[in-house]
Amino acid sequence: MDTSRQQLWQNRKMYLTSMTHSGTKLFAAAFRSIGIDASEFPPSDEDSMELASKYISGDECFPLKVTAGDLLRKIRDNDFSKHRMAVFMPTAEGPCRFGQYAPLFRKLIHSMNLPPDDVLVISPTSRNSYEDLGNSSRELMRTGWRALVSADILRKFLLKTRPYETNAGETEEVYESCLDDVARVLEVPDQKPKEKLKALVQVMTKSRDRFRAVPVRREPRPLIGVVGEIFCRLNRFSNQNLVKKIEEYGGEVWLSDVGEWVWYTNSEQYRKLRLVRRRFSRAMLGAKLKNHFQRQDEHVLSAPFHDDFRGYEEPADTEAFLALANPYLPQSSAYGEMVISVAKAVYLYQKGTDGIIDISPFTCMNGTVTEAIYPRLSREHDHLPMKNFYFDGTQADLDRDVGIFLELARSYQRRKKIQRAA
Ligand code: SF4
Repeated sequence: MDTSRQQLWQNRKMYLTSMTHSGTKLFAAAFRSIGIDASEFPPSDEDSMELASKYISGDECFPLKVTAGDLLRKIRDNDFSKHRMAVFMPTAEGPCRFGQYAPLFRKLIHSMNLPPDDVLVISPTSRNSYEDLGNSSRELMRTGWRALVSADILRKFLLKTRPYETNAGETEEVYESCLDDVARVLEVPDQKPKEKLKALVQVMTKSRDRFRAVPVRREPRPLIGVVGEIFCRLNRFSNQNLVKKIEEYGGEVWLSDVGEWVWYTNSEQYRKLRLVRRRFSRAMLGAKLKNHFQRQDEHVLSAPFHDDFRGYEEPADTEAFLALANPYLPQSSAYGEMVISVAKAVYLYQKGTDGIIDISPFTCMNGTVTEAIYPRLSREHDHLPMKNFYFDGTQADLDRDVGIFLELARSYQRRKKIQRAA
């Protein structure tokens, strides 16, 4: 790190908003590998939500309220005499309100009359903040991508093992310990990308063996595909840990991961370049190269899990995957997670899942649109059970709805035409 960067990060801790516990924990390790002292915010709770309620109603966007609450609680609890803070908040363009998070965070911090340098908001697409990461940004993006892929793989193994464990809590213990091991590898500084990947494959293979050693009792549980808005479906606090509830009612969950959003944004980048007649341009070459290296890393990291994930394969060809949504929401005329959710629902049907649950924040248009589409999609796919669940921070009683849904899934499981490969 050069001197100005060193000054900026000296006595400063970086916090990452926790969309997924695993992904954030490992991404924080990637930050540490470039010399930034990073960690995830402590898990959201009623206290953080109450703090957020003083500034935000929640009607704007529920994930905004959750993440702002985490930030406000950390500002309140931080000992500024020991270190200053930074919060990492990526941003995006388009109709989604996510692009407004970073500006709103800055506004909130400003309204608290803190000394100007005490809390920084780092946004990778904002020019200044990107510079704050300095020359290391490229290295961070590569290690960060590997962190996200590793997290997706470990979460997948957790979900396919936990419902069948014979000793309650053992899978989760293994999972947490594997995350620690992988984080220790990711955070090693000044390592060549090739060496880092080799070390990661080793630790991931060791993790695989630990998951394989968890004692399980196999039983025919319905497999429920979970799609929907990325934050709400992956953040356990936001969705009242719906995945665990499905498991309690006898199901197993195939949860849509973080990677699929990255493949989608890459595909959108190609589509937009083609639209402005830049099919053969430097920008297109750069986008293709990025996708190539990301796919390569994913392939290498997931290779040791090939046998374990038989029947649970994620889509390998993004364009073919997104084409599954064409009869309902063509990618050329709809944008965002609604397209992915619809495509994934069809994909999961083809994989032999027994039901689809779509998780969405209340007031987000993704869920509103998919809910309108699912009845037709279900009719055209052997009446596959499909249901939307909405969350807004008020505690809902999920038992009745989950219980009924699992009964429908069991009945579908008995009559379905497409059997699972696993
Ligand atoms: S998808 Fe919906 S809930 Fe999620 S950040 Fe965007 S507007 Fe908010």
